Amino acid sequence: MIIIKTSEEIKILREGGKRLATVLYKVKDMVKPGVSTKDLDIYAEDLIRNMGDEPAFLNYRPEGAEYPFPASLCVSVNDEVVHGIPNKKRILKEGDIVSLDLGVKHKGLFTDMAITIPVGAVSSINQKLMDTTEQALKAGVDAARSGGTVGDIGFAVESFIRSKDKKNNMQYGIVEVLSGHGVGRAIHEDPYIPNFGKKGKGAKLIPGMVIAIEPMINLGAKNVTLETDGYTFRTADRKNSAHFENTILITDGEPEILTKI
Ligand code: MG
Repeated sequence: MIIIKTSEEIKILREGGKRLATVLYKVKDMVKPGVSTKDLDIYAEDLIRNMGDEPAFLNYRPEGAEYPFPASLCVSVNDEVVHGIPNKKRILKEGDIVSLDLGVKHKGLFTDMAITIPVGAVSSINQKLMDTTEQALKAGVDAARSGGTVGDIGFAVESFIRSKDKKNNMQYGIVEVLSGHGVGRAIHEDPYIPNFGKKGKGAKLIPGMVIAIEPMINLGAKNVTLETDGYTFRTADRKNSAHFENTILITDGEPEILTKI
């Protein structure tokens, strides 16, 4: 069921999204060679709790999971696509790219955001992958208009990536088995927001809907595998992947990004 948020809920989500973006950018500033992925998680959790909020992913148990997610921050390095579990032995090194995915529960309501960033200097192929994925998110957000559909968003992301294939002389993989989603009263709500699709297909976009759009783009093929930890998705061909996500509000006009400072 798609939930339309009340104006009171939207106010809370706007504040929560701002807090989430503030935390995520602080964690971003901590990313450098020599830092462990667990260091980033501890810092993120501290920042969230110091604001009086709660991390949304800690102890979250998706359907079918054998155990709840054991951290506040998902940290996915290089060929890890999403849901990487922080580990004190996993040390970031120069040239890595790292995806940070974070959810915050503020006054009972959830927002969700992700960025992928370089660790020190990275190759131009990796930089282009991150830039392209971030721009694909922008294209998806821009297509999220009242009167349109979920398919318009997927179509916009997919068309943008296919246009970049030519420009960058690449054949980027768009992950299909994972998608964006409604968000707000729960961390995952209806509808699914795939990063591919056809214009005019799928659920209608209505003012008051709050959704997370999150393209996951691979340097190689679209296929992913699940690690034995039950959470970490990696690219099947072990080529790098990038992930950007914003929580947005569907309005009568321009979509409003809630996860921003
Ligand atoms: Mg999400």
